[in-house]
Amino acid sequence: MAELADAGDSKSPARKGVRVRLPPPAPKMKRVIVLLSGGMDSATLLWLCKREFEEVYALSFDYGQRHKVELKYAKELARLAGVKEHIIVEVPHYRLIKGSALLEGGPQVPEGPYGEEVPPTNVPMRNLVFLAIAGSFADSYEINHIAIGVHALDTPYPDCRVEFITAMESAINSASAYVARTKRRISLYAPFLGMSKTDIARLGKELGVPFEKTYSCYMGTEPPCGVCATCLQRQEALRSIGLM
Ligand SMILES: [Zn+2]
Repeated sequence: MAELADAGDSKSPARKGVRVRLPPPAPKMKRVIVLLSGGMDSATLLWLCKREFEEVYALSFDYGQRHKVELKYAKELARLAGVKEHIIVEVPHYRLIKGSALLEGGPQVPEGPYGEEVPPTNVPMRNLVFLAIAGSFADSYEINHIAIGVHALDTPYPDCRVEFITAMESAINSASAYVARTKRRISLYAPFLGMSKTDIARLGKELGVPFEKTYSCYMGTEPPCGVCATCLQRQEALRSIGLM
């Protein structure tokens, strides 16, 4: 996994307005597949990857999400970023799973901020499924990096944790014919793991991410509902960097 941006203690009010120190310039890595939802985290990741890699692919998923409208934003972001290819994959099995508030036909999306518990908007093993699919593209396209915008500090989803990302990277490498043949590695690039949403927003602002073209709401309404956990987190992050 790659280096974390210097996030520090994001909860401290003294850090408001502090610039995120970007990692020192390094030789550009070659090719990357970026998981792109259309939200502000993955958009920031896409812009970071544009800077860090020579060739960028975007990968989005149509999985029966309530907020399928995000794919429209993902397409526009991929176009603006000038990606080599934007792959959109259908993941139909989630239509058979009714327990998640984030899926069509599931229970209602709750209002209010995240608590400590795994929220009802958790989609079972979503990042495992998405990264497995990304891994199969990396394997067949012979791409050595997969980027994912998970941040563990302030999001209580189990498949956003460091231990999951580490285990998944190991699984992808064990499963890859490309890796077996070439002895090269496929690495998971998860630079936001130690960052908060506000840190990501600050980085995105420095990278020139068009936040107005990103979409985060779990309800899937246009305009966004403004009361679901992800709307609240987004508002707080953008407000703290002076963009709202
Ligand atoms: Zn919302």
